[in-house]
Amino acid sequence: MSEYDSASAPPAAHQAPPPPSPWAGTYLLMPKLAMGLLVVSLISLLWILHRNEVDEQRATLIKDILWMEQNLRFHLSGVEDQLSQLSLDLSQDTAPDTTFQVRARHMVKNNLELEQVLWLDANGRPKAAVPTATTGRQILEPFGDTSVDSAVAYAFDAARKLGKPVYGQPYSVPLRGTEIELYVPVFRDSHVSGMLVGVFSLNSLLSSAVPWWFAEKYQFHILDSNGAVLAAKSNIVGDLGLDYRIPFDPPGQGLVLEAATYSSPGNMAQRVLAAVIVVLAAAVSWSLWAIRGHILRRLEAEQALREEHAFRKAMEDSMVVGMRARDMEGRIIYVNPAFCRMSGYSPDELIGTRPPMPYWDPEHMDMHEFQSTRVLTGKSPQEGFESRIRHKDGHMVHTMVYATPLIDASGKQRGWISSVFDITERKRIEALQRQQQEKLEQTARLVTMGEMASTMAHELNQPLSAIASYAAGCANMLRSEERAPDRQALLGVIEKLSAQAQRAGRVIRRIYDFVRKSAPQQEAVRLDEVAEEAVGFLEGEAKKRGVTLGLALPPGLPAVEGDRLLLGQVMINLLRNAVEAVSDQPLHRRRVQVVARVRDDQVEVRVEDTGPGIPTEQADSLFTPFYTTKAEGMGMGLPICRSIIESHHGNLRFEPRDGGGSVFAFRLPREGATMAPDAPPPAPNAQAAPAVQTLQTAQSTQPAPRDQTHHAAP
Ligand code: ADP
Repeated sequence: MSEYDSASAPPAAHQAPPPPSPWAGTYLLMPKLAMGLLVVSLISLLWILHRNEVDEQRATLIKDILWMEQNLRFHLSGVEDQLSQLSLDLSQDTAPDTTFQVRARHMVKNNLELEQVLWLDANGRPKAAVPTATTGRQILEPFGDTSVDSAVAYAFDAARKLGKPVYGQPYSVPLRGTEIELYVPVFRDSHVSGMLVGVFSLNSLLSSAVPWWFAEKYQFHILDSNGAVLAAKSNIVGDLGLDYRIPFDPPGQGLVLEAATYSSPGNMAQRVLAAVIVVLAAAVSWSLWAIRGHILRRLEAEQALREEHAFRKAMEDSMVVGMRARDMEGRIIYVNPAFCRMSGYSPDELIGTRPPMPYWDPEHMDMHEFQSTRVLTGKSPQEGFESRIRHKDGHMVHTMVYATPLIDASGKQRGWISSVFDITERKRIEALQRQQQEKLEQTARLVTMGEMASTMAHELNQPLSAIASYAAGCANMLRSEERAPDRQALLGVIEKLSAQAQRAGRVIRRIYDFVRKSAPQQEAVRLDEVAEEAVGFLEGEAKKRGVTLGLALPPGLPAVEGDRLLLGQVMINLLRNAVEAVSDQPLHRRRVQVVARVRDDQVEVRVEDTGPGIPTEQADSLFTPFYTTKAEGMGMGLPICRSIIESHHGNLRFEPRDGGGSVFAFRLPREGATMAPDAPPPAPNAQAAPAVQTLQTAQSTQPAPRDQTHHAAP
């Protein structure tokens, strides 16, 4: 694993989900706990408030019932005082009957609760009664009578014995409710001479003594010792809440006062509030449960995402193809480990960088700039393009780059993603093969040239040395001063000399005949096809040098008659020269264009380049054999081309290009046309013949042009 295997963080959309939190369970528990505590707190608060309220109510109730009891006692004791005063007055009065009548009447009138006042004698027989003598009970009966209520007798007796007021037992009277009697003894000469009896109606007592506000607030009862209601006062019918009882003394006799509060609307509101809280708590619990389900599903999805991410990461890390993503401005947003290995830079060093990139080759910045602009403007070729990047340690890496738009999940283009293949090894092998092939070609040419030269030297040596010796003989004869030169002898020598010259001519003719023996194959050749094949053949070389090859071929170009192989060789030669000529130009000037057109009966093909051009003084030497300005050039290309073209009854010429550069143009008669007017006859040519021969020999070592149709330049 290299240091870059950790690769960069991918674009945000593909970032790894965070690892599952060990506290996830706690996070789920916390809201539930908090919710529970909240509900408990709220209920406790309500309960405490309720308790306080109840305590307060109870305190108020006790206070109020004590006040009420005091009020009742005040009423009763008021009547008791009046009866006691009457009893005192009766004991001293001279006309007691009248006094009783007046005073009793007055008392009954002023005290609503007082139903009746009786005056009994010492035996319990009624002496007088106000307002009437009728009573609820048979109290008028003498105490000796067994029908008399023993309780009455008991109270009577107790009052007589004690000498002070005593209350009797309460009793019920039809239509009048419960009544109670107060026995007040009447003394005469220190003896009980009679008894005053005040009869109280308990209901009337409550009516007069209990104020309205008290009745609004409480239901008020007087109970007997068994809890039975003897009298009651209440203005409202409703549910009862708190109640409180205290003894009703006086009159005593086991009587009890009871006050019960009505349920206040405040309680109702509290209950509603509590119910709302419970409902809300239930709703919150339900939603918590729903959220829990949601979170669990989310956790599952996160887990799946994490696994997916891990899988993708593993795939990414094991890829050998470099991946590089750039945003719309050209900033690198992602690189994979393979690209980092290829360039030698870490993701941190690359992410966020804009052109010029650190791995660009400083010597070919304009080429990188051009390629980068093409990618960012979407004009990058679909079939990819070659590039050369510089590894951080300085060595060059040849790459093949395929750039495609980077489309995100919403369908929006976020930038460009490039797949980068390392083709350094392939390139090295290709270059090696090319070198070997070129060497082979060169050697083959040299061998053929050498053979040709030695044959010619050998063949020509004899006639030439004979010519030389005959010429020397002639010269000697003419220089001799002794005698005049023998005209006949001289003629003979000159004839021999001529014969030798003819022999030399025959040698040359023989070589020419030899060349003629393998004369070009005549067939109909489409020059546009030849041009396309030649461009296809040189395409690789041109790409390597950053040269754009263009074709401008009109449709329906007429065919010419000739040898397809040789004409192809001419095209290749002219194109290769042009490609080499533009190679040192700035990138935008590395253009070579092949243009074809019809001129009268001729088809013209022009190879135009934007190279440095050729000075006029050199233009004359271009077609001279062995003229070259290249270190490894042979200077035979152009002479051979001219020779081939001329042997096809055409012509080849150089002309400067408008706007700089050179044009090499050749014309050939279209198929079936007569010979071109400016084409020289296919005469044996001492320079052209070996050139054609050399070329044909060399062809055997050339690879056949690739069968590919070339489109516009990459
Ligand atoms: P070689 O290519 O082996 O040098 P050629 O006969 O093909 O032999 O070319 C002869 C010379 O002509 C070249 O060395 C070069 O100086 C010149 N030449 C040929 N074609 C061009 C061209 N298109 N632009 C500039 N110079 C050229």
